[in-house]
Amino acid sequence: MRIRSRGASVAVLNASFEPLGIVTLHRAMVFLARERATVIEAVPDAYVQTAGDRVFNMPRVIAFRDMVRSVSAYSPMPWSRRGLLVRDEHRCAYCGAAGAATVDHVLPRSRGGRNAWLNTVAACGPCNGRKADRTPEEAGMELLWQPREVTRRDTLVVGIAQLGADLEAIGLAV
Ligand SMILES: [Zn+2]
Repeated sequence: MRIRSRGASVAVLNASFEPLGIVTLHRAMVFLARERATVIEAVPDAYVQTAGDRVFNMPRVIAFRDMVRSVSAYSPMPWSRRGLLVRDEHRCAYCGAAGAATVDHVLPRSRGGRNAWLNTVAACGPCNGRKADRTPEEAGMELLWQPREVTRRDTLVVGIAQLGADLEAIGLAV
């Protein structure tokens, strides 16, 4: 199979449209050629030529025709600073400011608070400095949202959005 666009990525959904992963264009074309999957969203005006000189619309999102088993989409991801900032959309959990770039530990680290999804929120520098080594109650600061765990599914949805897919059209919009 000859493929024109090297390095392109394609989102793969289960038959139920739950996200399964992101694969290379080559791998996606194998699923399509074997008729295991169908194209849900194509890249406009982009084509893929196969060895048999068949030309397909370049897929951006494909879905399996039959349900495949997968590791639980709802298992939590390991905690990471970057994942946390993405979860909170780089907004400060205390004042709502955009561009929050620091991690606040709800229960401060100095008091045993861990790097864990449920104990961390994104915060702007000033709010983080003001809260210091106190809990939100002690500092008289209110969380605008409660921290939640980040699952494999959340991470996949972010990745699929980065491919430029229309999340609303495929039912993955929040
Ligand atoms: Zn703030």
